[in-house]
Amino acid sequence: MHHTYMCPSCRAKTRFNVIDQVVTSVMWNNDDGVYEEVERQEPFHLTYQGPDKRVQCGSCGLVEDELRFIKMAENANNQA
Ligand SMILES: [Zn+2]
Repeated sequence: MHHTYMCPSCRAKTRFNVIDQVVTSVMWNNDDGVYEEVERQEPFHLTYQGPDKRVQCGSCGLVEDELRFIKMAENANNQA
């Protein structure tokens, strides 16, 4: 891992849980009354645009996009 993280909330830099986002697209099946996984999304089904990873601070439990933790660490380095 090349990035440095800093928690935007408690400013911890040591312990994190990195969460890989696994996207499953589903669509409601009215006949069966369940959501079914779709292999190919229809044109009006938005593709997931969110981040690949989210991060949880291992100290205070905050969960945010990975980018927020990276930016926080960068800003802290710039100020030092
Ligand atoms: Zn924290």
